[in-house]
Amino acid sequence: MPSSMIIFLTILSHLISINGRNVTWNASLLPPEIPDNKLRRDAEAIELASRDFGKIVNIKPDAVLYPSSVDDILNLVSLSYNSTTPFRVAGKGRGHSIRGQAMVKDGVVVEMTSLNGVKNKNNRIIILKDPELGFCADVGAEQLWIDVLNATLQQGLSPVSWTDYLYLTVGGTLSNAGISGQTFRHGPQISNVYELDVITGKGELVTCSNKNNPELFYAVLGGLGQFGIITRARIRLDNAPSKVKWVKLIYYDFSAYSRDQEKLISINDDGLNYLEGSLIMDYSLPDSWKSWFSPDDVARISSLLTNHKILYCMEAVKYYNYTNTINEDEDVDKLFEGLSYVPGFIFKKDATYMDFLNRVRVEELLLQSLGLWDVPHPWLNMFVPKSRIMDFNQRVFVDIIHKQNRSTGPLLAYPTKRNTWDDRMSAVIPDGEIFYVVGLLHSAEDGDWETWDNQNKQILDLCKKIGIEVKEYLSNQKTKEEWILHFGSKWETFVQRKTQFDPKMILSPGQNIFN
Ligand code: FAD
Repeated sequence: MPSSMIIFLTILSHLISINGRNVTWNASLLPPEIPDNKLRRDAEAIELASRDFGKIVNIKPDAVLYPSSVDDILNLVSLSYNSTTPFRVAGKGRGHSIRGQAMVKDGVVVEMTSLNGVKNKNNRIIILKDPELGFCADVGAEQLWIDVLNATLQQGLSPVSWTDYLYLTVGGTLSNAGISGQTFRHGPQISNVYELDVITGKGELVTCSNKNNPELFYAVLGGLGQFGIITRARIRLDNAPSKVKWVKLIYYDFSAYSRDQEKLISINDDGLNYLEGSLIMDYSLPDSWKSWFSPDDVARISSLLTNHKILYCMEAVKYYNYTNTINEDEDVDKLFEGLSYVPGFIFKKDATYMDFLNRVRVEELLLQSLGLWDVPHPWLNMFVPKSRIMDFNQRVFVDIIHKQNRSTGPLLAYPTKRNTWDDRMSAVIPDGEIFYVVGLLHSAEDGDWETWDNQNKQILDLCKKIGIEVKEYLSNQKTKEEWILHFGSKWETFVQRKTQFDPKMILSPGQNIFN
């Protein structure tokens, strides 16, 4: 048996033989840079690393690394890569995946947020002005977007592209795409990154950008953790607005709803800064859509809902500053002139920029207080081509989801634009200039996630059968053939990049692409 094999088996047997919190990996076998107490195999650490927001799968790693420096991760990946029997490694951000994407069987989970130790906290978000790029932030990949927002706002600056929920890590969302209602204007979060530090599957720390190691840069953006562990991202910043006009418009006719949304995202200057939309079904959870509206408005919308069963609620936001001298109501009214929402069903609110961006946190705290946050989440997220969105509405929203007559979480449906995505990145979107973001964000409050899961399969099967070429987002439930289909013309490049940057297939096995 080769000596490296003996070493690896020794490590494993050492790991397996130990219980209790203060576990040490055999220090003599590890690079001295990784202090022993950073690698844990106690029940608490293993349990934490084997769950995620989805609460559907549960995969236990052998050990969990709690790094306090980038070198700790570098040493771990090098150790694996240089072994003849490498072990798998996955960076885990906030663990807000749905299906174990950050989990590892027979390997090591790296708890990225451990980099955010007290000592490091202040120097892992650095704001700078680049002579060519302007303002940007150098951010540790373990940082939560809410912390990036708080730090940048202190200097009157802000990232431009967001996710709906801010308690996610920078590395986690950049591994997917990072989308929200700002995407039509600025592109996904992966389109707003200037530079990355990445530990590749070969255990090398590489700085990359569109000019410097561009192949790695584009591979990692939307790369599902397959090519490297991101440790730092340089993110585009702009002047932060201070307040927003937040408007909701109600429709019962889906074609009017989608036509108006598409019109609004086509306005360039002086248009909206954010556009999303969701469905309201007549048997929605009591509080799921009502909290935003006044009791009188809830009564009016409920009565409309009784007649129409499904309503579509467009959510539009325009940013302002306290120094503006324009009349904001008149300004937004101009944007909505000629739209076909139900007459009288337009609702406006003023909010601070922070309160608007952090809106999902309020819902989270409410759901937590009701014990409804920590439940299984059989979500289905996908991008639907604009050319088939009418069919999708009828065949999926009306004929499947509404007919099921079961209370669900938010159902998102809003258009965004292709021209803000760079085709060199790994992320995959459908053909066509405009496509729809659809999120079926079910919460299985009764624990019965399988029923939703079957419905999700039914929806995907139907799309396949009637030729709606959706691209799933955030999903890892695919066979090899389905991954090839998913990546389409990008598959060959994806495989070639895997061979180049992670030839031993060490990284993020929970995505189920190469194992
Ligand atoms: P994790 O779940 O920990 O990891 C996800 C994947 O990325 C894993 O494969 C992991 O190995 C890999 N990874 C993690 N960190 C790194 C790193 N530093 N380098 C390389 N790979 C890494 N997404 C949107 O786009 N828009 C939304 O509006 C949105 N809203 C959401 C709201 C909620 C309530 C939740 C739970 C999720 C939402 N998401 C949204 C999905 C979210 O972006 C992804 O699930 C994301 O992966 C979560 O980040 P995380 O830090 O929890 O990553």
